[in-house]
Amino acid sequence: MANSKYEYVKDFEQPDVLLPSTWIVVRIDGKGFHKFSDHYQFTKPNDRRALDLMNAAAVEVMKELPDLCIAYGVSDEFSFVFHPNCQLFERRSAKLVTTIVSTFTGYYIHKWSEYFPSTPLQPPYLPSFDGRAVIYPSNGILRDYMSWRQVDCHINNLYNTTFWMMVLKGGMSNTDAEQELKIFDEGHPTYFTQGTVSGDKNEILFKRFGINYNNEEDIYKKGSVLYRQFELQEPESAQEGEVDNSAVPEGKQSRSQQERLRKLRRKAQVVVDHVDIIKNDFWERRPWILSGKPGKLPA
Ligand code: ATP
Ligand code: ATP
Ligand code: MG
Ligand code: MG
Repeated sequence: MANSKYEYVKDFEQPDVLLPSTWIVVRIDGKGFHKFSDHYQFTKPNDRRALDLMNAAAVEVMKELPDLCIAYGVSDEFSFVFHPNCQLFERRSAKLVTTIVSTFTGYYIHKWSEYFPSTPLQPPYLPSFDGRAVIYPSNGILRDYMSWRQVDCHINNLYNTTFWMMVLKGGMSNTDAEQELKIFDEGHPTYFTQGTVSGDKNEILFKRFGINYNNEEDIYKKGSVLYRQFELQEPESAQEGEVDNSAVPEGKQSRSQQERLRKLRRKAQVVVDHVDIIKNDFWERRPWILSGKPGKLPA
């Protein structure tokens, strides 16, 4: 292609390559889903169809992008994680984020009618998602990021479950329920961010409504973890905190090496799990997630 005198405009484009050898997390979040969920009458506090749809769209994203090693979803958000070795789009942030957001949104809309057969999508209530990429420099910090999202899921779900019980079963107004959950705050050391400490909410649930929070479904309590299934490993006899949390000092992989790894990853099934990702156990049994080296396919 011949150069034209207009070529110089390309120089205005800013580079946005993400730091090498770092974990890349692309987190997407539904725009205005509070309103969106009202419009399509999501069940409160947790609409199972909506969560299943989020997960189904995320599975397709994982399948289309074999570079992804794990994803975590809760409510209207999903975090997609690329390994420090990832070279997709030369690690250009905008490319990675927009590809994930648009692929996810495409599948969310495509699959909508499967999960909401009697309520078709109607403008202006169409789903859209924002997205951003954040890099994390070590396995330990990546795991802290994942733990942060899962703790957030727990805090929000316990609050929402209690709040909606007080409203739907207890006949309280939204403001009264909110007020009561806030009032517990006074005189309590608050180690959780949203008003009451968790013990109080467990107590309200049990004493007033006979609900043992522990018996709630894991998908609500723990969120959804997506990863490729290889043969599980026996956890090392490592004690808590002894997992290798160091940064990953691998050199740059060649293109053919990357293509080989992609092929192996594509062969593995993407599974949706609702398990603890804060403790070591999850990561020890699935060493391929942090190492980036595909394991053996399960028999
Ligand atoms: P923003 O555009 O700033 O993200 P938002 O309205 O999407 O605003 P969020 O903080 O992202 O606000 O919260 C998402 C909201 O979507 C939740 O508070 C909840 O009301 C609703 N929601 C999402 N998923 C579900 C679900 N599975 N069941 C019921 N409600 C849901
Ligand atoms: P933005 O306008 O930049 O999109 P946001 O409100 O969407 O801001 P995010 O950074 O996307 O914020 O965070 C998503 C979720 O993470 C929030 O709904 C909130 O539950 C939680 N969150 C964000 N920051 C904190 C924090 N400092 N502590 C606890 N939870 C947080
Ligand atoms: Mg949102
Ligand atoms: Mg959200």
